[in-house]
Amino acid sequence: MKILSDFSLNELREELTDIPAFRVKQIFDAIIQAKDYTDTNLSKDIQSKLKENYILKPVNIYKRLESKDGTKKYLLALSDGNIVECVFLKQNYGNTICMSTQVGCRMGCKFCASTMKGLIRNLTPGEMLSTIAVVNADNGRCNERNFTNIVLMGSGEPLDNFDNVVKWIQLITDKDSFNVSERNISLSTCGLVDKIYDLSKLNFNITLCLSLHATTDEIRKTIMPIANRYTIEEILKALQEYVKINSRRVVFEYCLIKDTNDSIEDINRLKNLTKGLLCHVNVICLNPNGGSLKATTHKEAVDFVDKLNQIGVSATLRRSQGSDIEGACGMLRAKTLNEN
Ligand code: SAH
Repeated sequence: MKILSDFSLNELREELTDIPAFRVKQIFDAIIQAKDYTDTNLSKDIQSKLKENYILKPVNIYKRLESKDGTKKYLLALSDGNIVECVFLKQNYGNTICMSTQVGCRMGCKFCASTMKGLIRNLTPGEMLSTIAVVNADNGRCNERNFTNIVLMGSGEPLDNFDNVVKWIQLITDKDSFNVSERNISLSTCGLVDKIYDLSKLNFNITLCLSLHATTDEIRKTIMPIANRYTIEEILKALQEYVKINSRRVVFEYCLIKDTNDSIEDINRLKNLTKGLLCHVNVICLNPNGGSLKATTHKEAVDFVDKLNQIGVSATLRRSQGSDIEGACGMLRAKTLNEN
């Protein structure tokens, strides 16, 4: 079965040639508003013809958890029964949706719950578009946009699903769909160097985030297997190129892990690594996911960031939202898979 949200409006017109153009637009609007066939005003005849070959709503809410701070965490069911996570963050400067790009992940980072059972499969562009549609509709009127920013920081490695993510960026920024500004999209990667170069060439105005999490290759190898493939130096070269082409500040994510990457030497090395690059460091406290890694305390994290600022590194401590509802990457899905 084909997924209708995998098509742009123009592609849909070419795909559904025997349906009048204004009906095709209704179908497209139904996708954006997260409607299923019976919620549309399409004739029974068109509905039953489409149903035989096409899925209109490939993503449905399976479970919704709401945090005291207003953060909502979703488990979303895909049409093959797989589930992915998505988080809606209520913020003063515009709501943010944090979404997944793959079912599971094969990058194997030690601190990340998404990777525990490996990669199941890539999400299609339409499944990612419908993720946004479903969560948008659950947070206000379905025919309005109820969010500003999208971050690809849920389960999966976006650059390991390159073509689908690129197509999704084109779909989500389309005027006929959500008309999201490229500047309001952040893509986070563990550092697939070749793909960073490929992304640079496409000249999107999106923010590139790099999960650094270590200041030497030796340390990085102990927590991120991808460090065996690419060195920090190679990644930095690729980021320089990205900044050169896109003039966008890159963001380093740095998750503090006790006695692993939180020393004074790390602070100094972070200064050297970020020197001369248009960038910002986002420091996060590890959300322990039951493994052997322990979190640096909040006080130590504040200290770490202060010291970075004192030596001229642009850095902030990222506020953790929704920790009472398994807010961290892949944790809710992992818990639900274990329970079932
Ligand atoms: N594969 C991509 C995107 C998903 S992870 C990448 O590696 O960037 C994105 C971010 O989630 C990580 O950089 C990290 O900041 C955060 N994260 C994952 N597991 C976490 C944990 N246990 N505690 C705190 N943050 C975590």
